[in-house]
Amino acid sequence: MEKKKELLRSLPKVDESMVRLYPVIPEKISSVQLKNIVRQCIERERRKILSDVDNYTALTDEQWQNLFLSQVKQGLRYNLRRVINGTGVVIHTNLGRSLLSDKAAEQLVQCSRHYTNLEFDLSSGKRGSRYSLVEQLICELTGAEAALVVNNNAAAVLLVIDTLAHGKEAIVSRGELVEIGGSFRIPDVMAKSGATLIEVGATNRTHFYDYERAITEETALLLKVHTSNFRILGFTKQVSTEELVTLARDRNIRVMEDLGSGCLLDLSPFGLPKEPTVQEVVKSGADIVTFSGDKLLGGPQAGIIVGKKEVVEQVKKNPLNRALRIDKFTLASLESILRTYYDFDEALLHIPTLRMLTEEAGLIKKRAQKVLRKLKKASIENCTFSLQPTMSQTGGGAIPAYGLESWALQLCPAEVSLNRFESDMRDSALPLIGRIEDNRFLIDFRTILDTDIAELTLLLTEYFIK
Ligand SMILES: *Cc1c(COP(=O)(O)O)cnc(C)c1O
Repeated sequence: MEKKKELLRSLPKVDESMVRLYPVIPEKISSVQLKNIVRQCIERERRKILSDVDNYTALTDEQWQNLFLSQVKQGLRYNLRRVINGTGVVIHTNLGRSLLSDKAAEQLVQCSRHYTNLEFDLSSGKRGSRYSLVEQLICELTGAEAALVVNNNAAAVLLVIDTLAHGKEAIVSRGELVEIGGSFRIPDVMAKSGATLIEVGATNRTHFYDYERAITEETALLLKVHTSNFRILGFTKQVSTEELVTLARDRNIRVMEDLGSGCLLDLSPFGLPKEPTVQEVVKSGADIVTFSGDKLLGGPQAGIIVGKKEVVEQVKKNPLNRALRIDKFTLASLESILRTYYDFDEALLHIPTLRMLTEEAGLIKKRAQKVLRKLKKASIENCTFSLQPTMSQTGGGAIPAYGLESWALQLCPAEVSLNRFESDMRDSALPLIGRIEDNRFLIDFRTILDTDIAELTLLLTEYFIK
């Protein structure tokens, strides 16, 4: 009891701590923010005392000062900030998926710092529609009759199913009832949109007659879902979109395909597996196709809906659409990215996702060698560095279980454990995210940008030469 009281009494005072901190803080910080940080630190220690007084050791003045300073350092950092992606996963959902091209980023800055014609028709001087700004562009690129863009592809799927099958039945193959992650599951989305899910076929094989037999008076939709993040191998059978279209014809049933990633460009000439392009799926006769803006397309977060004019018009009129609408930042960057696709060579060169996915291993190795040379020159003694071949992933649920040949910088620190090193890299001012494999820390250079090189080299050199 006495010990507890004494410890609580020994906790520093907020005002006194602030007076002592001010002269040693390197950057500008408001007194409100500083006060909050100091309070939170003291409060945390107070709770430790209250919960387990026997195992609590009082902090020295110096320890308190260091605790405050480290929290101030954290507090001054943005919560959302740039990191270096050394994972080799190109469309890394946790690291923000696709990067914008220089042009798209410039356009985004322009439109964010000035007024725009977001909903103003410049030719008539009357109110315009934000959706018209990219619709024609998307139609030209995909061959679709009409298009609509919403917040993300999950929203697109929800909106379309709600529009076409609310209170009705939608048929999906058991092999396509996928969970994308972040609790996006086709059966749950179906339930939310008020449609009754009719499962057909088996996990590995679904036949034309499975769909045919499941059709009733209540059927409104045949839904095909791209099995983005897994593969079913071996004895398998799927029904093609074309076949579903023939089945739906003359029956007042719609065919929808959730493409997931949705690319406009066939990447198989670059050694990647063939994925159906949006153009191909549109051509196959599907009434409506949905895909993400920030996966293989390489743009901002968005859900793109394309299809038959009559169907898209119906989707546009759904009141849910207003709740899922995109903002001007998305529109500005999406338009710029889409325009790049008029020239596929330009797209491969300037859209970071496409450039990284198609980059040859030889070029990746060169970039890694550049850093390795600089590290060798720095004569670091407490870590060994070398290059090793590795496999990168596409990520983003696109082209799963397919490795891209790549090169990694491999580090073996001599004085710190790998786990400690990995967490120190995450904790640095410019965090580096890599992976530990076979007792080494690997930085896959497929996702290291030219603009990362100088800072990456500095980060490692300063870490080892203290
Ligand atoms: C990724 C994905 C989604 C969700 O798309 P978001 O843009 O992340 O909302 C939906 N369906 C499929 C098949 C996907 O791959």
